Amino acid sequence: MADDVLLLYDDLMLEHDTGPGHPERADRLRAIRDSLREQPVAGTRWEKPQPATNEQIELVHTKAHVKQIESLRGKSLSIDADTLVSPRSVEAAHIACGAAIDGVIAITTGSTKRAFALIRPPGHHAETHRAMGFCLFNNIAVAAAYAHSELKRKRILIIDWDVHHGNGTQQAFYNTKDILFFSTHRSPFYPGTGAADEVGANNGIGYTVNIPIPPGFGDGEYHEIYSQLLVPIADAYKPDLILVSAGFDSHQNDPLGGMKVTDNGFANLCSIVCDIANRHTDGRLALILEGGYNTNALATSTRACLEVLTGSSEPCTPPNPHYDQLYEVINLVKSNHKPHWPI
Ligand SMILES: [Zn+2]
Repeated sequence: MADDVLLLYDDLMLEHDTGPGHPERADRLRAIRDSLREQPVAGTRWEKPQPATNEQIELVHTKAHVKQIESLRGKSLSIDADTLVSPRSVEAAHIACGAAIDGVIAITTGSTKRAFALIRPPGHHAETHRAMGFCLFNNIAVAAAYAHSELKRKRILIIDWDVHHGNGTQQAFYNTKDILFFSTHRSPFYPGTGAADEVGANNGIGYTVNIPIPPGFGDGEYHEIYSQLLVPIADAYKPDLILVSAGFDSHQNDPLGGMKVTDNGFANLCSIVCDIANRHTDGRLALILEGGYNTNALATSTRACLEVLTGSSEPCTPPNPHYDQLYEVINLVKSNHKPHWPI
């Protein structure tokens, strides 16, 4: 049982209703849940998460932000053009955030080595003082902050493969070396942040690594970026905790992302991250769901990652990269980060 992959999920998150036509809809989680219940991945087990407390959420967010979200309990309204709440959204947001924290607790206190928080609303766009981009609380940032302050982790690696830049996660940890944020994201694209020269500030210089990429990159290109940049940086950083903002909107069938990653491509990225975890954290690692707006692709990509996490299947070798722009991207990141990392 100890090596099982823990799936953190609660049907309550389906009650966050964003209204007709919204891409971040309950069917996303339903598709993942139904697929994994109809055809379980051997070595996974389900658990209901505890809701995050406001005290935990305030490890990242301002009291004013938490108070504002609390004031929306039982209401239906738009916070901004993309970010909406329905009567049970605030409860769902507490469960989503609590699932990320429970995942971190499970993998650090030894009950399991791997966890996947299957959650919505997503989190990585939420900044310390505001909701944005479908996100109310920054689930992964709160989980990392909890691990830092309560579980005494001091070298936390956050990898973000969602097609959008995790502006909220970057903002939360821009000034610290205790949390290293590594993000691949389409650029220029929503939310507009994440240039290669955004590398962190003060004690955090070098500990924000942004890889802005043009649309169209697929399995080979992502694999090369992870091999040439993530692996040497992670091996030099020697993380004591690894978290992934696992968004599947970089999938080839996603209606918003414009990237070409396949299920096997995500499995390969997951496999690289597992190898890093095996070298530095005794294999311990938690994935936190972010975006992904083709419900079928979301279910199949999640499954592909779970098969890697449980060790039940090995991904196929990715194709060779074939975009010349790939090396421009890699060289740009190297020129910004050579002073900080052996790349
Ligand atoms: Zn996204």
